[in-house]
Parts: sequence; structure tokens; C-alpha cells
Amino acid sequence: MSMDYPSLAEAEARDAADPLYAWRNRFTLPEGVIYLDGNSLGALPTATRALMRDATDRQWGEGLIRSWNDADWIGAPRRVGDKIATLIRAAPGEVIVCDSVTVNLYKLMGAILAARPGQGRTILTESGNFPTDLHVAAGIAAQHGLVLDACQRGEIADRIGPDTALIVLTHVHYKTGERFDIAAVQALADTHDVPLIWDLSHSAGAVPLNMAADAARFAVGCGYKYLNGGPGAPAFLYVAGEALEFLGSPIQGWMGHAAPFAMTDDYAPAPGIERFLAGTPPMLSLLALEGGVDLMLEADRDALWTKSQALFNFLIQLMAARCPQLELITPARADLRGSHASFAHPQAWPINRALIDAGVIGDFRAPNVLRLGLTPLYLGFADLWHAVDRLAAIMDEGRWQRSEYSAPTRVT
Ligand SMILES: *Cc1c(COP(=O)(O)O)cnc(C)c1O
Repeated sequence: MSMDYPSLAEAEARDAADPLYAWRNRFTLPEGVIYLDGNSLGALPTATRALMRDATDRQWGEGLIRSWNDADWIGAPRRVGDKIATLIRAAPGEVIVCDSVTVNLYKLMGAILAARPGQGRTILTESGNFPTDLHVAAGIAAQHGLVLDACQRGEIADRIGPDTALIVLTHVHYKTGERFDIAAVQALADTHDVPLIWDLSHSAGAVPLNMAADAARFAVGCGYKYLNGGPGAPAFLYVAGEALEFLGSPIQGWMGHAAPFAMTDDYAPAPGIERFLAGTPPMLSLLALEGGVDLMLEADRDALWTKSQALFNFLIQLMAARCPQLELITPARADLRGSHASFAHPQAWPINRALIDAGVIGDFRAPNVLRLGLTPLYLGFADLWHAVDRLAAIMDEGRWQRSEYSAPTRVT
């Protein structure tokens, strides 16, 4: 049983014809490595290295504390937030960059629940959602005397009702890559007058987003994945303009104060989205994130999504032909998924270890998933061809059965 699959020459021809191919030169990637994990930690934009040198040597080293004003450090959370607003089609002043996704989820959930006391008994989410989303939701449910209702994706629509205080959903599932239709689910939530928070961690910089057109009111998202903001880059938080005035952060920090440097005893929230700031922003990380976001703004985002789809189709065609033991669990239909492809295999853990040793960095997600991220800015068709070629060799030789791959020794 042999299936036709594209040749290396065909892959190279597609790279040659790819209008985005030259973008890989804007990234610093290690020689010989095929990087399929940009959905977990985006690659390093080359320009960010100079930005970091400037941030340390000039802004910090020379400017010292003056840089809060002279280099507009103080305005950076909002400045970078406005840039991300462009990416997710929100308005200026609706996005702020701060904290981690985890903390932003906590702040947004707490703010919404406090604004609607006594409305509903449950926080609705999807079972198998990203762990931090589930943990934060469980914790805040307990604090507010609510019950966490984590149900299957197919049951969510039926569960929304008068008992629902709040819904929290991840737009693109971190493991399977399944994608919700934001407009449709938002419309359903609005019918029942239930607030809905979207986690855009695997969406921003990956799939088309339009917060305004889809009438999404609340979202959080990640800076270090497809936005290429660097390890531990701060996250973002989105609140639609009309909803902002009703919300106050449960973490009443001085940076979210209306006048932080008036140093008053009493707390008064900033009039704008800055009210969701808590403490002093991590400036070096924030400036690195700005580099990644600037790069994303420069790219043609429609072309990015078009190429992501082409990469996906190319990959699954090769995988079906050459690695049929690994089962695709990501929906093949483009409108139902994000920008990664996941494959199930009972031995996904050692297979991923062997693949990394073969110079192909994807990742493993418990219990049985090999996840391959498709980042059209710096990944080409020949990369995928070689990645599948190496994976096929690992499978055909049973190389993953070697003792060095037999037990988890480190976390990836
Ligand atoms: C990556 C990811 C996060 C990350 O949360 P941090 O607080 O930034 O560590 C949260 N939620 C989802 C859905 C993610 O994919």
C-alpha cells in the first residue's frame, strides 16, 4: 500500500513560489533545526536582538530611571496594547499588555463577576481546556460561591442558561487545534445575556481575528507564542469599550490607578483600559514583545493564514502517506482549526524525543499527542518535507523504542 506524496523537489518549488518565504530571514533560527514549536515559544525576530541591546545599554544603562518618560516606558503597556488591538481588530484603548494569561484571566473573571453579583451560579467552560484556564476558573468560582461547570464541547451550547454566571472558552484548543466560531458562540451567549471571555493564546498572530465584527467583549491572549514576544513575554487583556466602565480589576494596583504618581492613599481606577494594570510592567520583556508585534503588523496577515492552510494541507498529505501510524486529531477543515496539527499515537512521548534528536522540534502533550506548530512567517514546505522524512525514518526503524527515549526525563 503506497500513497502518492509530494517530492522534495515539489516542496522546494512551493518555497520558491511563496511570497512569504523571505520572511524567514527576519528571524534568527539555529542552523539545522526545523522548528515546529512556534505555537509554544515563538522564534527570535532578528530585529529584537538590537531592540534588546538598545533597551539595556541605552534605555536602562544610560537613561536609568529617566527612561520611564524619555523612552516612554510608562506608556508601553497601552502602546503595545494598541498595536495588538490592530491585530485582533479591536479599537485603540481596548487592549492592555500586562501580567500573564493566567493573571489576566483572574482579573477579568473577577471583574465581571463583581459587576454582576447574584447573576447565575456556574462558570461554564470546556473540559480539557488549557489547565490554567480551568484552575483559575475553579479558584475564582470557589471565591465567589459559584460552581465550575466544565463540560464537553458539544454540550456547551445547551448548558448556557439562567444559571450561567460567566463563560470562559479557549478559541483554538491548545492540544487538538479545534477552533470555536467566535461570532456564533458570542451570539448565543448574548441571547442569554451571559458574559463570555475568549482565551486567544493560540489565535493571536495565527488565525484571522475580528473582535469588533464578532461582537466579542472580553479576551486574554499570549505574547510568547505566535506573537514572537520571547520567553515569558507579558500577555494581553481586551475589554470592548462599552463594557469597560462597569469593570474594576480585583487587583487594585498602583499602576492601574487614575493617578499613580499622585501617591494617594485612596484607590481610584484609571478611566481607560489601564485600570487592568496591576504593578510595574516588565519593561525588557514588554519591549521584546513590541518587536514581535511590530513584525506581525508588517506582515500581510491574510497571506499568513493562506500559507498556514497550505502548510497544513501539505503536512497532513505527507503524514498520511509516510507516517500513517500517527492519527490526525486536528480538524482538516480550515475554519474549524488553528495553525497547528496534532497527531495521536500511544508512544507520542518517545517519538517526540527521537524527533527532537533528529533536529525537528515539535512537542508532546499528555497523554498521547505529538503537536506540530505551523508558523508561516518562518516555516517553509521543504522544512515540513524534511521533518516528515525524519519522522518516517523514526517510525520505520522503530527508533523511538531505544532505551534513551523510554522514560520521561525532562519536560518539553
Ligand atoms: C499558553 C496558554 C496559556 C499561558 O498562560 P500563562 O499564564 O501565560 O503561562 C494560557 N491559556 C492557554 C489556552 C494557552 O494556550
